[in-house]
Amino acid sequence: MLIIQKIVGLSKYYLHGFISLIKYSLRIGYADKKVIRIRRKICKKCPMIMLGLDFSTDSCSECGCYILPKTALRNETCPIDKW
Ligand code: SF4
Repeated sequence: MLIIQKIVGLSKYYLHGFISLIKYSLRIGYADKKVIRIRRKICKKCPMIMLGLDFSTDSCSECGCYILPKTALRNETCPIDKW
């Protein structure tokens, strides 16, 4: 039963990431530009950020999401309530 719960959890996690990337690519559900800017400032100073080659590949170690789509989409939230 535990394995099934883990598989379901991982599937939801990857599905969420996949849908977010599609929405980000198609520019669907974007937050206000000012909100995006504020979120990105907060993420850049956050100790949970995992630096990639540049900001486009930086990700959040709490949720595993890429920072660019995560901060751009209106319905996303910070996993530790920083924004
Ligand atoms: S989403 Fe939240 S936890 Fe993740 S890097 Fe940004 S501020 Fe930090």
